[in-house]
Amino acid sequence: MTINKVHHLNCGTFASLLVGTLVSHVLLCETSDGLVLVDSGIGILDIESPRRLGRAALLLRPRLRREETAAYQVAALGYSTSDIRHIVATHLDYDHIGGASDFPAARVHTTAVELRTARTQRSLPDRFRYRRSHVEALTHIETYDGVGEKLLGFTGAHPINGVRDMWLVPLPGHTAGHAGVALRVGGRRWLFHAGDAFFDHHAIGPTDQPRTLRIRKVSAMEGLLAAEHNKVERNHARLRDLAHTKSASVSVFCSHDPVMLGELQRCAQGSLPGC
Ligand SMILES: [Zn+2]
Repeated sequence: MTINKVHHLNCGTFASLLVGTLVSHVLLCETSDGLVLVDSGIGILDIESPRRLGRAALLLRPRLRREETAAYQVAALGYSTSDIRHIVATHLDYDHIGGASDFPAARVHTTAVELRTARTQRSLPDRFRYRRSHVEALTHIETYDGVGEKLLGFTGAHPINGVRDMWLVPLPGHTAGHAGVALRVGGRRWLFHAGDAFFDHHAIGPTDQPRTLRIRKVSAMEGLLAAEHNKVERNHARLRDLAHTKSASVSVFCSHDPVMLGELQRCAQGSLPGC
C-alpha cells in the first residue's frame, strides 16, 4: 500500500471555555490498496447518543455535527464506509476513537500499552478519559510493542501491518500508550501526526517566543489532561527538532490546532505557496 494522497479532515469542532475553538485533525489516506484513517474523531453514534462521550466531554465541549464525522466526509468524497480498511490511532481518548464504530470492517492499530490502559482503566483519570463503549467496540485490533526501529530521529517506531509507508511512533505523556503517526506520501514527503503530544503550534515553535495568556492557558489544559506530565516537555522538544530538521521534508502537526489544520488543508489544495 503506497500512500498516494492525503485529505486533512476536521472530524470534530470543540468550543473549549478555557482555550476557545479546537478541531479534531483526522487524515484520510488514499493508498494503492484502499483507504486508511489516522484517528477517527467524533462518531455518528456519539452524536446520536452524546452520553456515550461521558464527563470528559464537558472539558472540551464538542459541537456534535453529523457533517463533521469521518463517515459523513468519506461518503461525501464518494467512498463507502467499507472502503476504510485501517484506522491508525494516536490514542484511544473519546475524541480520537469515537468514529471507529462507524467503520466496522476496519482494522484498528494502536500501541499495546494504550489498549491495555484503556481496557483495564486502573486509575480514576483513566476511567474519566476512556469510554468503555468506544473501547469495547474495537473488535478488529492490532497492537504494537517492543523495540521497534529507528525513524526520523526517533527509536521504537513500528511499521503498520498492511499499510506501507506508515509507522506508529510511541510518544507517551498525554496517555501512557500515546503515539505519533509518521507517513511518507508519494514515496518522499513526510507527515507526522503528533496527536495530543502538543495542542498548539507555539509548543514546537521558537523557545524564546513570549508566553501569551492563550499559550499559558493551552499549557494548563495540556497539563490537566496529561497522564505523565514529566514527558510532555520532552515530547515538545523532540517534535520541535523534527519540525525544524533540515534532513527531511516533514510537516509536524497535532490534533487540535485549527491553524495547523487550515495550513495543511490549503497546502493539500495547492493554494499555499511553498508546499
Ligand atoms: Zn484529543
